[in-house]
Amino acid sequence: MINWKCENCGNNSKLKLEAEFAVDPIWCEDCGSAIDLYTFPLTSSLKEDLLKWGNDYGKWIDFETDSLVINGIELEEEFNKNGNKLAERIKGELGEKFTVTYSPSTSASMYYNYNNL
Ligand SMILES: [Zn+2]
Repeated sequence: MINWKCENCGNNSKLKLEAEFAVDPIWCEDCGSAIDLYTFPLTSSLKEDLLKWGNDYGKWIDFETDSLVINGIELEEEFNKNGNKLAERIKGELGEKFTVTYSPSTSASMYYNYNNL
C-alpha cells in the first residue's frame, strides 16, 4: 500500500499527468499543486521515463519563428499517446486506490488552428 498525500490539500489518491515547461509532470488533481517527482513513490525507471517524456513537451513549436514545426501535429499526437501509456504505468505501480487522469497537450492543435484560420 502506498502512502502518499498532497502536502497542500491532503488528497491521497487523485493525480493528474500533464506536461508543462520546466515542471515535473505529475499534479494533484484536487488543488493543482505540482508534485515533486523526487519524493514521489514510483520506481526510478518510471521517473526517468516521465522526465524524458516531460522534456519532449513543446518540441512541436519553433520558438524562433513562433510557429509549428513540420509534423508538429503528429509529434503532439505521438506525445499524447506516450502520455497515456505513462499514466497507465503510474496506475500500475501505485495500485487501485489511485486514479491517474491524463490531460493531453493541445498546444500544437492550437497553433495549427491559429495559423489556418
Ligand atoms: Zn492537493
